[in-house]
Amino acid sequence: MNLQCRIELGHAYKAGSQIARVLSEDWCGRELYCAACNSDRLASSRVNTPAVDFVCPVCGQPFQLKSLKAWNQKKIVDAGYDSMLRAIRSDKVPNLLVLQYSADWLVKNLLLIPSVFFSEAIIEKRAPLSSKARRAGWVGCNILLDRIPQDGKIAVVSNGSTVAEQQVRQEFSRIRKLADVPAAVRGWTLDVLTTVRKLGKARFSLQELYQLEPYLQRIHPRNQNVRPKIRQQLQVLRDLGLIEFTSPGNYAVRS
Ligand SMILES: [Zn+2]
Repeated sequence: MNLQCRIELGHAYKAGSQIARVLSEDWCGRELYCAACNSDRLASSRVNTPAVDFVCPVCGQPFQLKSLKAWNQKKIVDAGYDSMLRAIRSDKVPNLLVLQYSADWLVKNLLLIPSVFFSEAIIEKRAPLSSKARRAGWVGCNILLDRIPQDGKIAVVSNGSTVAEQQVRQEFSRIRKLADVPAAVRGWTLDVLTTVRKLGKARFSLQELYQLEPYLQRIHPRNQNVRPKIRQQLQVLRDLGLIEFTSPGNYAVRS
């Protein structure tokens, strides 16, 4: 994978955001492969579908590209809040590619967030645009990266180095079965997986997980039954092959 963008393509544009879009889209069209199948390329699709930038010509997986110069591990700014919630509820969010480029247009980091990791808990509503703005009252959103478990943040390029394709595809295939969980309940599955990952342990107990109950309660303020939810979702995670039950009340993360 050649990490250098073709700088000369930007000469025709003035706005920084436009240059970033043209260069990073060109780079993805040239260098990127599909993480979901063996296709060694992705096809551009922007003309037909505004929220989708690339589609795999073999398996049809949609991808949206976001390019940034500054890298914030906690959150990234996204488009409209309402349209994002609609997409999540109808299970129509594309896979997200977050690309960070350097000052000399090298791809420094590229993160793939599979579509199944988009739940309402990771979307933050932003303040409406002021009455002086061209789109006054419009409400955008942030994607809270720190609420996505590490399973859903697949590095394709990390700190200027390419991650092996085989590893990327393996990580993608590992979490694919999450798509089998209906979108309406998947949020809880993901939140419990995030909590498990927050523990930072390969083996953990139910009691340890209960200590992170306040985190889940904060995300789901109206739910009065967080502990039963945790236990229920641990079973779902086990059925998906993401964790295993080692002995009563004890679990292990499956890699
Ligand atoms: Zn594919």
